[in-house]
Amino acid sequence: MSQLEIKNLHVAIGEKEIVKGFSLTIRQGEVHAIMGPNGTGKSTLSKAIAGHPDYTITSGEVLLDGQSILSLEPDARARAGLFLAFQYPSEVPGVSIANFLRAAVQARMAEGEELDATAYYKRLYSKMDLLKIDRKFTSRAINDGFSGGEKKRCEILQMAMLEPKFALMDETDSGLDIDALRIVADGVNAMRGTNLGMLLITHYQRLLDYIVPDYVHVMWDGRIVKSGDKSLALELEAKGYDWVKTELAAANA
Ligand code: ADP
Ligand code: MG
Repeated sequence: MSQLEIKNLHVAIGEKEIVKGFSLTIRQGEVHAIMGPNGTGKSTLSKAIAGHPDYTITSGEVLLDGQSILSLEPDARARAGLFLAFQYPSEVPGVSIANFLRAAVQARMAEGEELDATAYYKRLYSKMDLLKIDRKFTSRAINDGFSGGEKKRCEILQMAMLEPKFALMDETDSGLDIDALRIVADGVNAMRGTNLGMLLITHYQRLLDYIVPDYVHVMWDGRIVKSGDKSLALELEAKGYDWVKTELAAANA
């Protein structure tokens, strides 16, 4: 069974350290949620793992099955089995979703291997059925005039097609409405129990009403300060993040 290990990761943007010793191990099949107030470094963490050039990993490791991914280019990280949900072409007018997905699937195949069109469409349609996506959807151009919910649907379909070992989804900045939240949740739930390991970053407890995570972690000032199961999310909802802050202050006193 595969595992993704994030070990004592430190990430800086320019001179400023944002992620300050983040550690977490995710095994395939597990759903982990990371919650935390704005500005605590959640998006920085996911962008650094994706290999975004503006984010410098100053120390620590990210290991996929024991192998460091940090020297790999973003596309090689994807081929190794990581899926990073925010890595989307914002808009690609003229390129249909079906063709975009086909190129994405082809790009992840071994060199010299050809994607069989019949097999590809069969797989695409079976994933669309799984996710309850209308067939008409894939003839539309990528993100061209998409609603928030449609962007999410496209993202989830891409994830289903690529069958990654691990998916990282940062939902904080997308201003998800209920419709989009449901799409993400239904997609994740449909893929659950397969070999997918999932890191779901959110500051909305609401999302966790639809996706029940196996583990919940609270991120504060660049690191995990508290971990638990889904009851931790409920506790956070009831008590707010100030509760964590007060606990931390007491622990450090
Ligand atoms: P979160 O996702 O938890 O809300 P972020 O990772 O987006 O937090 O931001 C963490 C900190 O890093 C914030 O103080 C933010 O201002 C800063 N930051 C984020 N992106 C940049 C950037 N591109 N340049 C400079 N500072 C940034
Ligand atoms: Mg964020």
